[in-house]
Amino acid sequence: MRTAAPRIATLAGKPKPLPSANPAAQADGWPDIDGRRRMAQVGPSIRLRAMTQALAELTPAGWLERLAQLAVRHGVHLSTLQQRDGRDLELVFASATLHLPADRLLDERSVNEVLKGFLAGAGVMLATDHVELRRWMVDTGFMRRSDFGTDYRRGTFPEWLSAAAGQLNAAQIARAVREARAAHDAQREARRQAWLASQIQVTEEVQPEDDADVTFMRPALDQAHNAWALAEVPVGAVVVRDGQVIATGFNQPVGNSDPTAHAEIQAMRAAAELLGNYRLSHCELYVTLEPCAMCAGAMQHARIKRLVYGAADPKTGACGSVVDLFAEPRLNHHATVDGGVRAEECGMLLSDFFASRR
Ligand code: ZN
Repeated sequence: MRTAAPRIATLAGKPKPLPSANPAAQADGWPDIDGRRRMAQVGPSIRLRAMTQALAELTPAGWLERLAQLAVRHGVHLSTLQQRDGRDLELVFASATLHLPADRLLDERSVNEVLKGFLAGAGVMLATDHVELRRWMVDTGFMRRSDFGTDYRRGTFPEWLSAAAGQLNAAQIARAVREARAAHDAQREARRQAWLASQIQVTEEVQPEDDADVTFMRPALDQAHNAWALAEVPVGAVVVRDGQVIATGFNQPVGNSDPTAHAEIQAMRAAAELLGNYRLSHCELYVTLEPCAMCAGAMQHARIKRLVYGAADPKTGACGSVVDLFAEPRLNHHATVDGGVRAEECGMLLSDFFASRR
């Protein structure tokens, strides 16, 4: 079975963002709580605080996720954050506040060092300096100055952030930002490489890639490169529906501390979130390596229509190499399976990866 007119070629030239996160989130990353989206219009003041007081509490995970979204930007001005969405400004200030000791006063020089450290780490996307940041944080109550104006201490967190603030620390925040920026850079580099590769193919390839399977294995390979960039075993996957890639995923169990974070699961999770349905019955899954038993099981739960994989996996492959879960008649699922697509390329990537680690 072949899928008609794949439009994947546009991905290499002009990258479109693919769904990978919370589909309930708005384009700006925040779930629409109750329409109170633009809160602060004027300079830093207590008014900002007063207007976000009634918001729903943020979870620590929500905090890190939103901060990671902000962190992949560059040169963000505090006034821009404030005008677009006061919550972003409060989240950034609260993240800086967590860098201050909870229970002790700091003199001005020490506070400057802390804020400089924040701006070099978790606050690296901000276009500001420690002096401006300090002034804004004092004005908005995230930092308090002693009566004599010589010492500083932590201020209070707004209600919607205070519970999560109690569960987070500066190191977690800095790590989330670092990882988000690394993943972002890796994705951009992979897209650049894919684009370069597509340019070369146009001029050099004798045989055009008219086979849809070969074509869709390309973005799966790009995803595998993303995994490698994060020092994970390079396996990548994409979910295709109606001839279009709707979701991507790459292997990330180490970085996510998640034994289930195989490329196939990541891609199916993103696709199911996008479609609002765990059943992916009209979808095909392309993955660079023969799926394991866990992933094969997840595909059966998702009712994936067709599976296409690249290299065989003699150690854990559950599509014929070790066991064949798709051929098991007692399991009531009938996906069609094709293996060996771009097998050499997919396998080479893995052997290069393991060779580079020896
Ligand atoms: Zn797996």
